[in-house]
Amino acid sequence: MTDASLPIDSQDALLAALFEHMADGVFLLDPETSNILWCNRAAHEDLGLSREDVLNHSVLSLQKDVVGAPQWADIVSAIRAVPCFTFVGRHRHALGHEIPVEVNTTHFSWQGREFFLSVARDISRRVALESDMRDRSSQLWFALNEASDGLWDWDIPTQSVFFSPQLKRMLGYGPHEMDSRLETWKDNVHPDDAPLVLRTLDEHLRGLRDRYEAIYRLRNRNGHYLWVHDRGKVSERDAEGRPTRVVGMVQNITDQKMLEFQLMQLASNDMLTGLPNRQHGENYLKEQLAACAAQGKKLSLCLFDIDQFKPINDRYGHLVGDEVLRQVGELVRSEVQAPDMGLRWGGDEFVLICPGQGSEYGIAQAERLRQRFASHDWRKQLDIARMPPVTPSLGLATFPDCGQTPQALLHAADLALYQAKSHGRNRLAIARPTEEGCRARAPL
Ligand code: GH3
Ligand code: MG
Repeated sequence: MTDASLPIDSQDALLAALFEHMADGVFLLDPETSNILWCNRAAHEDLGLSREDVLNHSVLSLQKDVVGAPQWADIVSAIRAVPCFTFVGRHRHALGHEIPVEVNTTHFSWQGREFFLSVARDISRRVALESDMRDRSSQLWFALNEASDGLWDWDIPTQSVFFSPQLKRMLGYGPHEMDSRLETWKDNVHPDDAPLVLRTLDEHLRGLRDRYEAIYRLRNRNGHYLWVHDRGKVSERDAEGRPTRVVGMVQNITDQKMLEFQLMQLASNDMLTGLPNRQHGENYLKEQLAACAAQGKKLSLCLFDIDQFKPINDRYGHLVGDEVLRQVGELVRSEVQAPDMGLRWGGDEFVLICPGQGSEYGIAQAERLRQRFASHDWRKQLDIARMPPVTPSLGLATFPDCGQTPQALLHAADLALYQAKSHGRNRLAIARPTEEGCRARAPL
């Protein structure tokens, strides 16, 4: 107690000793920061930690199921909304294993300051017992439960579903929460994923698929979505062969999915500017051209290139050149909204794709971009006093008039860009269809 962060009067020593010797972990938390202001012995010893490891650290550092400030903000609101908030999750032990815990948190004010008081109970024995007692005939069931993040068992005639404690825990529910009804699961499947997931399940029930398998987003107690891999199979049928029972297992694959998204992002983005890269842009252009052709729509494409960029590199160095490109990336990102796409083509060349739009829109967008270059405070941003303004030259071509394929359209835009450069730079030139093909019109 001598090292407690909050002073406690000596007349409260008995009270403090009681807390200190409680079997459950007791934590006093700062709602603002999530930091642990005080804890008793069980709170740190049960996790194999010293008091110093825990005090003034975020309570999130002990948790396996709560990550980051946004989730903490949700939890703070939930705690404030009820007299006692119950959370079932997992604490990390210093040796690496996890401990299932039920945490009851109350909120109170003392001397004008708000505090949370959390009491954490190790429920590993209870969880194991519950799994064991539910179906003692099935050691396999128990083993499966341990091996996966959750099991479900759907009794079709009664429409009731058994959700295993692991599954409930994965979703942040206590062992006695979650109604044992199919709707409890259905209502939490992401609305965008639900049609495909339900169709897949239905096709399995009708015998069109050997088993049910789906990857989708499932909402947890906090309202956040987890990515799950769900697999199941009909295990019992009635005399007519109609399915009466389906069992399955759910795996939480959120971490894998996040990694997948990051890798996809890395593969399709330009490292320097963070804009989509050329390959991604080429694919997008191809897809959008096909869609516009099918729907009889136009598409405008603007190729632009920074003026006199080489001298910037030569005079101020490559790092400054890189910073200019990065800032161009920022400008493009702030000006361009889907379905339009602004991407780095390579070097100091960028492309703006505007699906479904004719030249009028393309001209307006290209001009807007040029104006953004003109109003950007390059000197201040780059911290170079006599830096000349950074300007782009732009060439615009429109599908179908100036080209039917990505290559033809890019070639037409490139010819227009050349016109813009040769007429003095910092301007837009427009490729116009002529009888012999597409030709660049004199710049604006
Ligand atoms: P123009 O007005 O005719 O476009 O003249 P320019 O000097 O901009 O000529 P050009 O567009 O041909 O020059 C592009 C230069 O961009 C050449 C190359 O050294 C430089 N460059 C290409 N990629 C990068 C990069 O990632 N970082 C930096 N700093 N420079 C790059
Ligand atoms: Mg250039």
